Amino acid sequence: MPDSDSLPSIAAALAQVRQRIADAEQAAGRAPGSVRLLAVSKTFPAEAVSEAAAAGQIAFGENYVQEAVAKIEALQSLGLEWHCIGPLQSRKSGQVATHFDWLQSLDRLDIAQRLSRQRPADKAPLQICLQVNMDGGATKSGLAPEQALEFARAVRDLPGLQLRGLMSIPEPYGDPQQTLQVHRQTKALFDELGASLALPQWDTLSMGMSGDLELAIATGSTMVRAGTAIFGQRSYPA
Ligand SMILES: *Cc1c(COP(=O)(O)O)cnc(C)c1O
Repeated sequence: MPDSDSLPSIAAALAQVRQRIADAEQAAGRAPGSVRLLAVSKTFPAEAVSEAAAAGQIAFGENYVQEAVAKIEALQSLGLEWHCIGPLQSRKSGQVATHFDWLQSLDRLDIAQRLSRQRPADKAPLQICLQVNMDGGATKSGLAPEQALEFARAVRDLPGLQLRGLMSIPEPYGDPQQTLQVHRQTKALFDELGASLALPQWDTLSMGMSGDLELAIATGSTMVRAGTAIFGQRSYPA
């Protein structure tokens, strides 16, 4: 076990991730700053989030609504941007509509309709990415690619929601070629939907995590979601 002095600080880890993003943008011939970083803070305490915020990070991703709401309330004064990226049960939709800025894991129309009704009128619309299950992984949520257009059309016109793009989580292949192939298919679906929907704000392809962000940026991701690379290994309660 390394002692705590030799563990990288959150600020140092963030700087490293930002450098990886910048290098990947350059390698792909993409404009500097064209890929946003979402810091995935699930299982880490509010103190870790405020440390990252002090190092300039604004957007944070959370999977568990209860845990997230406590942090959002504790850190209200920092003006952070909160993204819900985990599977959402309908009984939790009110809390998401009230507390979050983004929901990236939308894949059910009844939940979209609830969120639309529950979004407070004095808040900006909830920013939405549809989660697609591009490779058919059996254990994860998400729309089948062939359902995505019809679903997007239904979500597009709901008040209180603004549809921004897609989110995907490939299976952990361990083979970069396979990951790359799924990322390419997701990018193709993103472009196809963008052309059909003709929405000016269709601008977000949320793809890539700590282990594969370079592959995702090479393929056209506009937002990478990094947890482990910033905050370290997660330990889940038993
Ligand atoms: C936990 C999680 C991440 C972060 O994964 P890391 O491998 O720790 O970077 C990204 N996206 C989603 C949807 C997650 O649930």
